[in-house]
Amino acid sequence: MNKYIFVSGGVCSSLGKGVAASSLGALLEGRGLNVRMIKCDPYINVDAGTMSPYQHGEVYVTDDGGETDLDLGNYARFTSGPLTRANSITTGQVYESVIRKEREGRYLGRCVQVIPHITDEIKSRILAVSKADADTDVVIVEIGGTVGDIESIPFLEAARQLIHEMGRANALSVHLTLIPEVGEGELKTKPTQHSVKSMQEQGIQPDVLICRAPVPLDEATRRKIALFTNVANEAVFTSYNVDTTIYEVPLIFFNQKLDQVVLKRLGVESRHANLKPWYSMMERFQARSGTVRIGIVGKYMDLHDSYKSVFEALFHAGLESRVAVELVKIDSSRLEDAEDADTVLGANAVEGASKEDGVDGILVPGGFGQRGINGMVKAAAWARTHKIPYFGICLGMQIMVIDWARNILGWEDADSTEFNQDTKHPVVSLLEDQVDVKNYGGTMRLGKWDSVAEPDSRFFEAYKEKTVSERHRHRYEFANTFRDEMAGSGLRLTGFTADKSLVEAVEWPDHPWGVGVQFHPEFKSKPTAAAPLFRDFIAAVKKVKEHK
Ligand code: GLN
Repeated sequence: MNKYIFVSGGVCSSLGKGVAASSLGALLEGRGLNVRMIKCDPYINVDAGTMSPYQHGEVYVTDDGGETDLDLGNYARFTSGPLTRANSITTGQVYESVIRKEREGRYLGRCVQVIPHITDEIKSRILAVSKADADTDVVIVEIGGTVGDIESIPFLEAARQLIHEMGRANALSVHLTLIPEVGEGELKTKPTQHSVKSMQEQGIQPDVLICRAPVPLDEATRRKIALFTNVANEAVFTSYNVDTTIYEVPLIFFNQKLDQVVLKRLGVESRHANLKPWYSMMERFQARSGTVRIGIVGKYMDLHDSYKSVFEALFHAGLESRVAVELVKIDSSRLEDAEDADTVLGANAVEGASKEDGVDGILVPGGFGQRGINGMVKAAAWARTHKIPYFGICLGMQIMVIDWARNILGWEDADSTEFNQDTKHPVVSLLEDQVDVKNYGGTMRLGKWDSVAEPDSRFFEAYKEKTVSERHRHRYEFANTFRDEMAGSGLRLTGFTADKSLVEAVEWPDHPWGVGVQFHPEFKSKPTAAAPLFRDFIAAVKKVKEHK
């Protein structure tokens, strides 16, 4: 079975298209189907790797080292099909390969055009994902941008052609729109009508509408929308505002029978729906009591999306410990300027908090470049000496190493060569083969690597497995020349690559929970199963807080 669902959006951006597409994916998986998710991004960047986290949010890394759009993170949290770089299609990639073929003379002198050459390239990339695995039942293709944007036209045109070629029984269009509220609770359907008209101008008649609205749409409004848009009554759904969590969206759609309508349209016989993991996730959500406050000490604090997967993973971990996780976003430059870390992290640090309420745990996430580094080192030192649980991810682990070298070994100038090339104590440094790399796109240690956990470590305790596979995205490494002095002075080296050539994890001795890992466990965390290290970090935070 090879069915295709194209998810587009209209009226405005940020309607939650990614969550809607992923939730539909979750429901179809619940029906026992093998689902693959694809994101089409109209931007001209070849991948998200070179985009600023300030502007575009995090880069989501796949097992095969793809640096992809953060929407793939949504797919990973809601669905379980494999995601590789092929699941992220950008205008930049498409043009790059068409132009390469043109230079190689592969178009035999023909004039190379948007239609059919660009659209053919898009189509073949979409089809390649479904063909990569013989078991694929349904491919959900999310088209980035808003209908009417110049940039998304080739993608919509490719979708139109595929729907036409495969026939409506095998391919359908799901369109997401906004129903705004005007005045006193008056819901307006006109923008939706216009949005569907724009789709029709592109030659696509949406089969299913998902309307983003403050409240569930009543029957009369749905009927009106259906009448004006040529969409069946039963195929108009509402994605209304929820005050619980976005992870309830699959269940909200399920209650409206979205999956039944989609399966019927695609001619798939109805199967039993197993949504148990989602229901029990919501039970854990409802059972939460109390709050733990996690200070995230990083660089890209103004945009929530910059550390999207980290924040989501903390939320997932809170579900496992039945506790709400409050995020306190701390720009590390603030700590640099502060006289004393305590004024930022300790008592009275949080507005409105009582005197003894500082942060209960600290997480230093990944990052690049020098700004704010010393603030992060201060935060690590503070957590280490105050016995506050600390979780260092990638840069956050390197920060632990720098703190240890400076404050325990007394090497004041200890640093990563990313920040200081001339230090006498380059405790974090480049591997030989990276020294001359000048090209910034895709030149790091990227994608999945096996790490071996030392027995009797927090690392092993979390995974209960010796060898774990997690994803990397960094250029610098723990410097092996300092291994003996670091370990000799008590820093625990608790994870290594399989050949032992690289350090993958460090831990503080005599500390409730101080763990740094060179990889990014946040990319594999799910609401239905939190990443093990996040789970244990929050469990430790909760425990320490209870015994305060
Ligand atoms: N800047 C550091 C490096 O390149 C850490 C990268 C990261 O945290 N993702 O090694």
